[in-house]
Amino acid sequence: MPPKSLAAGNWKMHGTLASLQEIESLVQATSDNKHSCDVLICPSFIYIAAFAERTKGTNVMIGAQDCHAHASGAHTGDVSANQLADVGASHVIVGHSERRADHTETSEQVHAKAAAVHEAGLISIVCVGETESERDASKAEAVVTGQIIASVPDSATPENTVIAYEPVWAIGTGRTPTVKDVADMHDSIRATLIEQFGQAANGFSILYGGSVKPANAKELMSASNVNGALVGGASLKAEDFNGIIDAYR
Ligand code: PEP
Repeated sequence: MPPKSLAAGNWKMHGTLASLQEIESLVQATSDNKHSCDVLICPSFIYIAAFAERTKGTNVMIGAQDCHAHASGAHTGDVSANQLADVGASHVIVGHSERRADHTETSEQVHAKAAAVHEAGLISIVCVGETESERDASKAEAVVTGQIIASVPDSATPENTVIAYEPVWAIGTGRTPTVKDVADMHDSIRATLIEQFGQAANGFSILYGGSVKPANAKELMSASNVNGALVGGASLKAEDFNGIIDAYR
């Protein structure tokens, strides 16, 4: 099966209950079914239940930005994938570079979290990406290949796993790689997945993330093996995010 396209918004630690208005607007904007991609917003944990309730039966899905690797237990302050499933989340982002940097998350931990997401019946969005110094040292492809091999568990299938390539230096900076660099990396990720999972890996969706805006979305989304976008800043306002979804209209 060819990969499904996905426009995913990562709200990070932004938004309040009043942001339900943006969700309402996005539901409206996508209600005519004229787009050919799935649409997902990942707010902070505390808003997932309310947003998921509002989006039931619409074209907007609600996901989380992280989870614990265990299904339950004595882990104060953490949230499990089972709990996220219970309140209506469809996807969980794991291994975002901000979690890898701020919480020193390793690919082994990301692997365990992704497996927990699958165990809970949800879809993992596994993030990978090189730093600027790694790119400057011509190590980008090797770093990303290593992250894929170490982060994506054997339980991954095209139905329960999405890969997001996000060069760390492009996140929130307004800078993006060239379309050729994006295509080269996505081709390399596809080849790594095929080595790991065989020809079925042609069905995995591979998102590009890093300063995607309405103005550059169409060009970036047209690159080889790019099956959608993971969007930070430009997903906070329904109007901007809808402009990115336009790449799929
Ligand atoms: C992100 O945080 O995943 C991201 C891609 O952010 P931005 O779109 O703001 O660069």
